[in-house]
Formats: sequence, C-alpha cells, structure tokens
Amino acid sequence: MGCRSHMDNHEHRALGCRMVRCPTCGRGTPFEGNPYRPFCSRGCKGLDLIHWATEGYRIEGTPPEDGTDNEPDE
Ligand SMILES: [Zn+2]
Repeated sequence: MGCRSHMDNHEHRALGCRMVRCPTCGRGTPFEGNPYRPFCSRGCKGLDLIHWATEGYRIEGTPPEDGTDNEPDE
C-alpha cells in the first residue's frame, strides 16, 4: 500500500516501496502490484523462460539416456 505509480525510483526508495531488478533487462521495477515480478513486464518474463528453456534445460541437445529406457522411440 502507498505505492503511487507516478513516483520516481528515488521516491520509491524514500517511501520504502520495494523495487526489484528485472533479471532479464536489469531495469528497476516495483515489486508491489507487479504480476510479472521479479520481471518488469510479461515480455521479460517470457524471454527469461525461453532463456532457461534453451540454455538451462537443454544444453547441446537432449542428453542421452544411459540405457535406462528400452522403449522404442521414433
Ligand atoms: Zn525487464
């Protein structure tokens, strides 16, 4: 409560409004009332998810199963 949208960043700090840094673009964004936190926007949130999906989960393609799966795959 008490976080006004027209406030500047330094005013946010002065009022004790929580500001977080968007992990994607590094911009400061209000923590309160932000559905995409800690991201600044839906776009940044989507980008981060893609980033994780492409670089985090699948590194250099799908890692081969070590013979634990004998199911014929196409
Ligand atoms: Zn951002």
